[in-house]
Amino acid sequence: MLAPVACIQTRKILACLRTTCEQLARLFTYGGRMRNIDNSACSPETAAVWAGEPQESSHGATQVPVVLSVGFGYEDVHSWQAAAMGETAGHIYSRNTNPTVEVFEEKLRVLEGAEAATSAATGMAAISGVLHGLLKPKDRVVSVKDTYGGTSVLFAEFLPRFGIDVDLVDTDDGDAIVESVERGCDLLYLETPTNPTLKILDLERLIAAGKDQGAITVVDNTFATPVNQNPIALGADLVVHSATKYLGGHGDALGGVVAGRADLVDTVYHHREINGAAMSPMAAYLLLRGMKTLFLRVERQASNAMTIARFLEQHPKVTQVNYPGLPSHAGHEIARRQMRGFGGMLSFAVEGGYDAVTRVIPRLQWVHRAANLGAVETTVGPPATTSHVECTEAERAALGIPEALIRYSTGIEHVDDLVADLDQALEAI
Ligand SMILES: *Cc1c(COP(=O)(O)O)cnc(C)c1O
Repeated sequence: MLAPVACIQTRKILACLRTTCEQLARLFTYGGRMRNIDNSACSPETAAVWAGEPQESSHGATQVPVVLSVGFGYEDVHSWQAAAMGETAGHIYSRNTNPTVEVFEEKLRVLEGAEAATSAATGMAAISGVLHGLLKPKDRVVSVKDTYGGTSVLFAEFLPRFGIDVDLVDTDDGDAIVESVERGCDLLYLETPTNPTLKILDLERLIAAGKDQGAITVVDNTFATPVNQNPIALGADLVVHSATKYLGGHGDALGGVVAGRADLVDTVYHHREINGAAMSPMAAYLLLRGMKTLFLRVERQASNAMTIARFLEQHPKVTQVNYPGLPSHAGHEIARRQMRGFGGMLSFAVEGGYDAVTRVIPRLQWVHRAANLGAVETTVGPPATTSHVECTEAERAALGIPEALIRYSTGIEHVDDLVADLDQALEAI
């Protein structure tokens, strides 16, 4: 009595498995499976939600499947080899490519208006992949003194070891940057707004100067996000992001991405598949989930930041406010030209130096006191424990970073609560 039932069930299971396999086979084949959204097909808000999302997936799942598999199997050696050689679509090994990670890359590619995009385990893995993947001994790099702390360590410590000449110019001095570029430049590396003093570089002018020298031009767009700034539209060859920050937006996943000219992205991808700093599929999933609300979050963070900057600017205990949205900011006019919004990052200096900073920060109620930024929660810290933890006090001073500075990553909370919180915390001075 049992045998026929078991037999029917086995047949059902086998049929079911076959369908699943066919669905999975489609899932792993990229041609036409993703929503191929042209950059001009819809507004970026819509692309943030839909770009790269699967057209079809097993069980009709509406959300991107998290494919944790390390390897991808083939029925026969010929089809396996065809996929391995890139003749047919398909994945081989997740250090190289992975279906979940590929959706993340595609969504960012569309948001930055890029030809191609590739990912990395962290923002620093993406940045070092660009520098180590594209540069060679005797090349000359021009950048600014205010790049992200980790990036400036690559410039000061690691690249010179490979015989690469790096000139770090004063971030405020556009003429000096152009002059340095004109002395010969293979790679121009820019970041705007900068961390933590929110300086603004004139992207169009500097990129044009780099192009005149035949340099590869790279922009770290982490602070601005694709919501507010698209460096490729301003002429950049490559854009890099710490996806850990605004793209993910929830402080729960590390990631990095490089987007831009396909030939350069290919080289950076090739370096990364060998160097091995691949993005994890779970991180890709969390980042994708975050990116769907990128515009909502960043627009709210920017409007909160503007209100907070205005409040701080008139506060008697605050000696300096750095926010590109303030007309008093030295880069305000350039920011207005090249950005659509001014972002959620600001910093301010208080009366009483570092001692005052150590008293104000613990009094804040609606903040994380942490090194991260760009998350939905407001996050604060002094440069000495966040962006410039690698530097000595003297080095920070040389970079124009006051010890009395507080970096403020505005969250999505109600702005009245944030202003009231700052108001009571500043009473500690
Ligand atoms: C955080 C950050 C990085 C490094 O990114 P990780 O994901 O932490 O490696 C690079 N550039 C900027 C502007 C950053 O804020």
